[in-house]
Amino acid sequence: MADGGEPEKKRRRVEELAEKMAVDGGHGENTRDWDGRWNHVRKFLERSGPFTHPDFEPSTESLQFLLETCKILVIGAGGLGCELLKNLALSGFRQIHVIDMDTIDVSNLNRQFLFRPKDVGQPKADVAAEFINRRIPGCNVVPYFKKIQDFDESFYRQFHIIVCGLDSIIARRWMNGMLMSLLIYEDGVLDPSSIIPLIDGGTEGFKGNARVVLPGMTACIDCTLELYPPQINFPMCTIASMPRLPEHCIEYVRVLQWPKEKPFGAHLSKPYSICLFFLSGVVKRIIPAVASTNAVIAGMLQEKQFSASFSSAYVPLNNYLVFNDVDGLYTYTFEADRKENCMACSQVPQDLKFASSAKLQDILRYLTENASLQMKSPAITATMDGKNKTLYLQTIASIEERTRPNLCKTLKELGLTDGQELAVADVTTPQTMLFKLHFI
Ligand SMILES: [Zn+2]
Repeated sequence: MADGGEPEKKRRRVEELAEKMAVDGGHGENTRDWDGRWNHVRKFLERSGPFTHPDFEPSTESLQFLLETCKILVIGAGGLGCELLKNLALSGFRQIHVIDMDTIDVSNLNRQFLFRPKDVGQPKADVAAEFINRRIPGCNVVPYFKKIQDFDESFYRQFHIIVCGLDSIIARRWMNGMLMSLLIYEDGVLDPSSIIPLIDGGTEGFKGNARVVLPGMTACIDCTLELYPPQINFPMCTIASMPRLPEHCIEYVRVLQWPKEKPFGAHLSKPYSICLFFLSGVVKRIIPAVASTNAVIAGMLQEKQFSASFSSAYVPLNNYLVFNDVDGLYTYTFEADRKENCMACSQVPQDLKFASSAKLQDILRYLTENASLQMKSPAITATMDGKNKTLYLQTIASIEERTRPNLCKTLKELGLTDGQELAVADVTTPQTMLFKLHFI
């Protein structure tokens, strides 16, 4: 079926026709802004209404800001990302950047509608950007086939708004931490111009949520970490010394053996490494994806994004919306509270209370299992006698092996004292977290 077959021909004709309609806007010529192109957006920006903000003054300048100036970063070009890019571009936003580290898999094609069978294996960000730019005149989507961790503060600072459509809590928390690090405080007072709103969405099967985070002002991702289901972590000692459940064995291979032997290169993502659904469930923690949920949540994100871009025009979402259509249809909006001692946004030093007879393993377990910390692979260092000492580091196999005996030592045996500061680095945040150890 390389070239031909009726269905294939028909599909091409439909695509060609759709393309033509999009590019000439139905007017027969390739103009960027044909008559009435932005009428739908103008209705929101150039007249007032029952839901507008009390201070709102309708203006024709808002449309220019939307079309020319407003710079948006979309993180993720997957299920939510495709919907978001389409929504943003059709609403007139033209300066859109998109980051995604994934390539297109054939299983994405049922819902990630910017991709076609010929695109399988290509970077999602590149293909999505190319599609939007081709179909929507004047739109300039800039793709990055990279990880969010590959960019620094100066990159993120250029955006007016960041919209996240991610399937990873770690990446979401990292992004949240990055926006916190951009905040500027003068004499303890937050400089509002340093705030970049984060619009975050997530879906899982028929459920989803959309939320607005104004960093330093409203509840952040880490403030509400308890809302996420706890990830099951297996204690390292169990995995290393006495794996007794099938899950332990999989983790043993994933955490200890894989990094050393790298049987298929660095990554554990190829199909041949995952043949059992159970196994893939443990290793990749697969979440089902439903196209209609993505569409609903992306629509909500777009609306929140729109209202955050024109903060004087709308009363913004305050601040957390849940959606559920498992049985009937249910939505609910509530105001998530900031957490006083939030690790990410409170600027309050974090305390660790342990007996001096506790083992390093206990601290590690606390950092990963405590509902408000939920770290993934924390690396713990301490400054002792003026020297930095790595107590435990999991992500580099040789260091893991060398520091693993520390896990079974007590805090006292490790030479830690009451009031000792511990620096903890983890994939959930771009910043090193400082903890103060208190003996009880
Ligand atoms: Zn917070």
